[in-house]
Amino acid sequence: MEKKTKRVYLLVAILFIISFFLPSISFANSDSYEVSSPVLNIRSEPSNNASLVGQFTKGDQINAFDEQHGWVQTYYGGEPVWIAKHHLIPTGNSNQEEAPAEEVTSDEQTTEETADSSSGAVTVSADSIYVRSGPSTSDTIISYAYQGDVYDVVSTSGDWLEVSLGDGETGWIASWLTTDGNVSEEETSQDSAPTVEAAQTQSSSSGSLSGYNIVIDPGHGGKDPGAIGLNNIYEKDVVTSTADYVVQQLEEAGANVITTRSGDYFVSLDERVQTSNSYNTDAFISLHYDSFSAVPVSGVTTYYNSDSDATLANSLNSTLSSTVSLPSRGTQQAGYKVLQETNAPSVLIELGYITNPHDLTVVQTGDYQSSVARAITNGLINHLNN
Ligand SMILES: [Zn+2]
Repeated sequence: MEKKTKRVYLLVAILFIISFFLPSISFANSDSYEVSSPVLNIRSEPSNNASLVGQFTKGDQINAFDEQHGWVQTYYGGEPVWIAKHHLIPTGNSNQEEAPAEEVTSDEQTTEETADSSSGAVTVSADSIYVRSGPSTSDTIISYAYQGDVYDVVSTSGDWLEVSLGDGETGWIASWLTTDGNVSEEETSQDSAPTVEAAQTQSSSSGSLSGYNIVIDPGHGGKDPGAIGLNNIYEKDVVTSTADYVVQQLEEAGANVITTRSGDYFVSLDERVQTSNSYNTDAFISLHYDSFSAVPVSGVTTYYNSDSDATLANSLNSTLSSTVSLPSRGTQQAGYKVLQETNAPSVLIELGYITNPHDLTVVQTGDYQSSVARAITNGLINHLNN
């Protein structure tokens, strides 16, 4: 009897000691971010309806200890709090980002001296962006640029920047996916009020989808592979890469894009719905690829649930059928959970049959996935601006 009691005490003591180490373990696993929006609301729970605790401002550094439905948990005044993840730039690998930055800026010292708004260096602020042959989203993609890349600006046209790619080559990038070079970032912290105003005007006036919250829902993920196509191709993988294209093009058009998953992990349907309902979402778009036991079935289907979403479905079906190379199977009404329970106008698009050899070959190409992104972007522009 006494021995047993001793054992229990020992166990409690061990647990107590472990609990002291837990915070430091989770600290080691935390991701660090920088706040990218002028003002970022701090909330008590991961929801826009939760009470407002305070605000971060642009450039604030935070450590994330948990993540839920597009929200990140950090600490504020010693209390656990939540902030929206899409206003954060990861800062985990600063060494890798600085090396190319120095390389590029040392190429042309002359532009640095005249560092006004139309010349000088810009830093890519989005995860990855397209570099195009001209100043619009309809110009050809010539290369890619990634977060932290620094470019010298050669000229501007509207909201687009012509940047030097080296060897006399230039390309165009969307200005709202970049921040000014090192010089102006110093100015930001010294003189915050006017910069906040400038940043807000920039993001609200750029692009035809600016001011709109678009939720992209890449179907399946993690333990749920979705449909399994020919050659053991998983639906979740084709969906993930297609979603990357869609997110990039929507961001180029100025949209604020929220994704329900951003890697290969499982997300429940409830969580997908909750993500959409946590934002003031203008459109929810779920991306899938179809399977069917009969091989010859082919093409793209746009599903919607409520009658009020038929116009969104028609708009997307219209640009899909005119833009992508697979045939359109039109729109159909269906009671998918993500369509029924999201508050926002919502559609679910089946982007081709991975059980059909022709569809499967086509849908795995960057050309196809990029055309899907173009169709969705233009469909949303037509729908939301009418
Ligand atoms: Zn699916």
